[in-house]
Amino acid sequence: MTTNTALRTETVARPRSVERLVVGKATSDGAGVKLTRVLTQPLQRRLDPFLMLDAFGSDKPDDYIAGFPDHPHRGFETITYMIAGRMLHRDSAGHEGLLENGGVQWMTAGRGVVHSEIPQQEEGVMEGFQLWLNLPGRDKLCAPWYRDFAAGELPRITTEAGVEVTVIAGESHGVVGAVTRDATAPLYLDLHLPAGTRFSQVLPAGHNAFAYVYRGEVTVNGTAVPLQRMAILANEPEADGVVIEAAGAARVLLIAGRPLNEPIAQYGPFVMNTEQEIYQALSDFRDGRLV
Ligand code: MN
Repeated sequence: MTTNTALRTETVARPRSVERLVVGKATSDGAGVKLTRVLTQPLQRRLDPFLMLDAFGSDKPDDYIAGFPDHPHRGFETITYMIAGRMLHRDSAGHEGLLENGGVQWMTAGRGVVHSEIPQQEEGVMEGFQLWLNLPGRDKLCAPWYRDFAAGELPRITTEAGVEVTVIAGESHGVVGAVTRDATAPLYLDLHLPAGTRFSQVLPAGHNAFAYVYRGEVTVNGTAVPLQRMAILANEPEADGVVIEAAGAARVLLIAGRPLNEPIAQYGPFVMNTEQEIYQALSDFRDGRLV
């Protein structure tokens, strides 16, 4: 286990305010998996370098059982965080891994992979999130990379206030997360806040940031953020971080990153800088060159 007490305090003097609350859109993807798209395509520029956040959660097997059969990706990274359930990943680069309760799968698609994500359960709850993180243009055709982290391998901190923090990416309270990335500097925290606690996190003013509440409700700089809402945090130039308060027990994803400020061209599972690069991805996929 990698549970730590906080190595240092995050001191936030001027917390960011909530710019906007967003309700996700119910949709289905893959072979009919029901999910909620929290970060949709119209928010890609505002939340650069993040391209998508899907939340899935159901105890009805019909909502998830068919999973995501073979499909390609190119030009970005996918981060799947499984709260509950079992999902098997297989890809054309030869990686295979079982993702279960509390585990994270980080896949850098780079120049391309074809993969499948198939539930390994016929009943019970399947709950989790998939986040898409963009790659800078110079890295979009890099070699694919992949890693599974079991729950026990993820760095975890308990703050003085008693907030449990899983550091999936970035750094919090002096603890470095499972994955770091130079270009986008992603921060990805899962916060478990007991009733009556407060959590502070330093954030660079220029980084885009949002919080998604998946249990309970919280308050961010005076704004109530209800269950299943994403709060987009304002980029006030003088702000130095975020403070999240929970009157009752709550769980929140806190996600932030450095914007790439590059053109975004997306066609389904391909995210490049130009349309020409999208046509290239489509023809490479058609001709079997994405594997
Ligand atoms: Mn996929």
